[in-house]
Amino acid sequence: MKGYYGEYGGQFVAETLIGALDELEEAFKRFKKDRYARKELNDLFKNYAGRPTPLYYAKNLSDYLGCEVYLKREDLLHSGAHKLNNTLGQAILTKFMDKKRIIAETGAGQHGVATATAAALLGIECVVYMGKVDAKRQRPNLLRMRLLGADVRIVEKGSMTLKSAINEALRDWVRNVQNTHYILGSVVGPYPFPEIVAYFQSVIGKEAKRQILSQAKRLPDCVVACVGGGSNAIGVFKGFLKDDVELIGVEAGGESLELGRHSATLTEGKPGILHGALSYLLQDEFGQVVNVHSISAGLDYPGVGPEHSYLKNTGRVKYGVCFDNEALEGFKVLSRLEGIIPALESAHAVGYVVKSRDYFKGKTVVINISGRGDKDLGIIEALEGNGV
Ligand SMILES: *Cc1c(COP(=O)(O)O)cnc(C)c1O
Repeated sequence: MKGYYGEYGGQFVAETLIGALDELEEAFKRFKKDRYARKELNDLFKNYAGRPTPLYYAKNLSDYLGCEVYLKREDLLHSGAHKLNNTLGQAILTKFMDKKRIIAETGAGQHGVATATAAALLGIECVVYMGKVDAKRQRPNLLRMRLLGADVRIVEKGSMTLKSAINEALRDWVRNVQNTHYILGSVVGPYPFPEIVAYFQSVIGKEAKRQILSQAKRLPDCVVACVGGGSNAIGVFKGFLKDDVELIGVEAGGESLELGRHSATLTEGKPGILHGALSYLLQDEFGQVVNVHSISAGLDYPGVGPEHSYLKNTGRVKYGVCFDNEALEGFKVLSRLEGIIPALESAHAVGYVVKSRDYFKGKTVVINISGRGDKDLGIIEALEGNGV
């Protein structure tokens, strides 16, 4: 059925938004057929954002772990994470629909920064909703968005994190849908958002496949990526879905699964509806969505993209968990051995490989480094003092 991945996905939204989703679907179809629009995006990818990002053979880490590790360097993309692939694409779609205003929600602030960046570049008015808790722990990104000209509105309702920011953005969209496009930041939300975001992020996997074939002269045994909503993971997985390559998505386990303060949606959740789509969801015994927690704001989302739910059920992708302390270990190992300070989100993928090193022994592994860690230094300092 249209808009579904197996039984997951769909459009569970207010009637007022169906028209906007149809309009977006139609604009996306036109975009994919339009040579000039694709060229505009590819030029921006190359000359503005810095694509292709390198695939880097991490020799020191490989020696340390006893496997062959290649890092896909989305941390080197302009504005510091993979998010810009999606926001540049959707900003061009906004122009296609003749809309004059962009809104977005943000958790870690990376999607807000990437949206504000694309909006500044293309001259579009931009409003970003951010939970108060996130605004505090991701202050550098708050300042960045304001410098880029975005109107950042701090949300003081609900969990005051990503979940409440999305609710406010949806409310704004319902009121202003005539002139406003809502740029969702991950492969979540009602159809066609999961499809559009995956399409714009699939450039990661396309490049990674070409690069590993050229450098290692073979496909990898495994591709590993962290999963919040799931866009960097879908993006890199898309390049290898049809190949005999093991795909592993790593969710944030928070302090521990027992404490209940975690965000391992696919490992611990059950199917339910959140933000317009049916997918795995962390909920309590009464079906209420729970407040989630991990050290990385970008993985603090109680849901996950519907395509991931489908890939889990079909068994094509395996999903694992990395706890806060294991992610910190990944963060330190990569910083010290390779001189690369990863985002705490990406450190979950690294930490998973480090803790499962016996499993990966002798294998060729691609880890997607979804972003850089500058934004997280305050969190690291608060956790460890100056002795990191
Ligand atoms: C936002 C973010 C994530 C999580 O989002 P996905 O949609 O799961 O990719 C991961 N890493 C970084 C660096 C991010 O900014």
